[in-house]
Amino acid sequence: MRRTAAAGLVIVNGQVFTADRSHPRAEAVAMRGAKIAAVGSNDEARKAAPDATVIDAAGRTVLPGLVDAHNHFLATGESLGMADVRYPKVASIAGLVEALAAAAAQSGFRSGDFLRAYGFDHAKYERAPTRWDLDRAAPGSPVLVGHISGHYVLANSLAMERAGVTENTPDPPGGRIDRDERGLPTGLFRDAAMVLVQPAAVDVGHHGPNFHVAADPADLTAAVERAGTAYLAAGLTTVCDAQVTSRELTAYRQARAQGRLLVRTVCMPLSHQLGSYQATGLAGPFGNEWLSLGPMKFYCDGSLIGGTAAFSAQAADSRDPGHLAGSQAGTGAGTGAGTAAGAGAGLLFWDPAEFAEAIEQAHLAGWQVGVHAQGDAAIGLALDAFTRAQHARPSADPRFRIEHCGYPTDAQLARMRDLGVIAVCQPSYLHDSGDDFLDAMPGIAHRLQPLRAELDLGIRVVLSSDSDVASYRPLDTIAAAVRRQTRNGRAIGPDQALTVAEAVLAHTIDAALAIGAEHRLGSLEPGKLADLVILGGRLLECPAEEISSLGVDITVIAGRVAHQAG
Ligand SMILES: [Zn+2]
Repeated sequence: MRRTAAAGLVIVNGQVFTADRSHPRAEAVAMRGAKIAAVGSNDEARKAAPDATVIDAAGRTVLPGLVDAHNHFLATGESLGMADVRYPKVASIAGLVEALAAAAAQSGFRSGDFLRAYGFDHAKYERAPTRWDLDRAAPGSPVLVGHISGHYVLANSLAMERAGVTENTPDPPGGRIDRDERGLPTGLFRDAAMVLVQPAAVDVGHHGPNFHVAADPADLTAAVERAGTAYLAAGLTTVCDAQVTSRELTAYRQARAQGRLLVRTVCMPLSHQLGSYQATGLAGPFGNEWLSLGPMKFYCDGSLIGGTAAFSAQAADSRDPGHLAGSQAGTGAGTGAGTAAGAGAGLLFWDPAEFAEAIEQAHLAGWQVGVHAQGDAAIGLALDAFTRAQHARPSADPRFRIEHCGYPTDAQLARMRDLGVIAVCQPSYLHDSGDDFLDAMPGIAHRLQPLRAELDLGIRVVLSSDSDVASYRPLDTIAAAVRRQTRNGRAIGPDQALTVAEAVLAHTIDAALAIGAEHRLGSLEPGKLADLVILGGRLLECPAEEISSLGVDITVIAGRVAHQAG
């Protein structure tokens, strides 16, 4: 349902957590048009919008609309339309085959069509699945199954045949084709090798994993709308797509033109487009409050969940890389830069010198820069590049971001503080894959995503989902940061947990800061955009284990009720 915004909307009797550090709590919020008119007592709010529709929050928590600073919005919409093979729904190879066979048997699926699924997590299986396993699921159809990390794809034999991949196909730079003892491709394509079987709409070269799969434009706008509806129901009003190519930007523009872009969307163009943007003189921030360009995204290393994050030799010593991603993880299939990161280094997308040069170019062009860096070796390269960029042209507020920031050392945290680097973290990994981390890297698992240490040092911490790698629901993310508990109930770095209030700030105003939008959204303050949520209960007193199930009763965006539960 949508109410008219003209006369305004007033929320009274709320446990209002404003995320405005100078006025953290209130009772009521008044909105006129698309903006907030007042935040304060019930009387003050009613006076500010006398003709408004009044909603009684009845003591429930009211928060600013949640901001997801690292989210694969379009990819999530696409996944919501695919077969879901995530753990724990699928926990074995037999389960995977069964789920795919069931998807192929559904009405509407025609044999011979591409069968797509997402979310397999073979760290949870008895062994890595192969194309021969998939061949049993849907004979006659090419099958592609995306890994939960977004960094691998598993193909069946027909999909490989259609793509012309044989045992003679070499590993591309930045990627790897897994092979068995006979040298035959097993069907698992890692990082830059994914494009060999998954026809891509865009060539991103060595700049990142390519999930920019060729698709019908109408399907993509439908996916944007599908995800937007789900996000509003989860309390998200602003998302930042952390990997945007011409494919995503076109889909968002199209959706916006058709009135189907339901949440505010900030785009992080992937670094392969740096030259094109330089040629036009365009750099973020650019756009409007609904659709804009934000920071530029660079990849440094691979995936923590997938076992291709780049660790120093010292950190790598304390892990068992074989455990996470099958027998070949951690052997280094990078671009020849592996020596810089030491033994067992994982995967680097760049030669470090070229990486630093590209980041300097982006910084000089005016871009805010976000770097995907999980392992300490990758984080070190990112910090070196930021230092060099600041040396080339000092900026008082560069807002460098490290995406994920899995394992920063103490010395790196001090450098992050000094450079003003924002840590854009995804604590849901600790829940979803924490058991694997504890088993595979017992020496460092508790120190992954050291949120408490970062806050104590004065580093800006941002919580995000990385959906569709993890749940897009902010209440799941907040719960994961507060609980630091694995799926099987084991503690993972409990001394690094956040309080609920800290977690909300990290998912609202500080997330807005990470996308350069803190002046217009992220907190409930007069003059800001009228985006807020009413939760299904009182978050601030909620037992940690019940946060995830609290639910979102009402989501307001631009002064209109855009989601109402039940
Ligand atoms: Zn991501």
